[in-house]
Amino acid sequence: MELKDLYRDVILDHNRRPRNFGRLEQADARAEGHNPLCGDRLTLEVRLAGDRIEDIRFEGKGCAISTASASLMSEAVKGQDLATVRRLFERVHALLTEQDAPAAPELGKLAALSGVREFPARVKCASLCWHTLTAALEQGAGTVTTELADEAPLGLALKQAGEP
Ligand code: ZN
Repeated sequence: MELKDLYRDVILDHNRRPRNFGRLEQADARAEGHNPLCGDRLTLEVRLAGDRIEDIRFEGKGCAISTASASLMSEAVKGQDLATVRRLFERVHALLTEQDAPAAPELGKLAALSGVREFPARVKCASLCWHTLTAALEQGAGTVTTELADEAPLGLALKQAGEP
């Protein structure tokens, strides 16, 4: 089996059976993400223990890549401290946008997203969940859209929930 096929199978599996799907009973942070280009929407909830992500859940509707990416992310960040989460996001972002970015060993199964860089229109599908997680962690609550986050991929354009 070629690596490409393996990666495709990981994406398909996580789309079909998303991990950590649903709502948390007690959430410390929550954010919603929207990718208008594709129509992907997701709501993400996080429970923290100190600076560690103790639990994470997401729900929403999106394309296979956005769902699989959120599922893979939820597995990767659960139990990790926030510095590790930020580093992972940087690695994923490089993987999605730089043609020659190596799949760093710490990425684990997230490496399956490397095929997305062949389809630039889908990069936002894969990065939506990471932007949404960052929004949740930085603001506690908010809405993020990929359309405003373009110029600073690691920065965020945030609109606080409830603001006009
Ligand atoms: Zn999508």
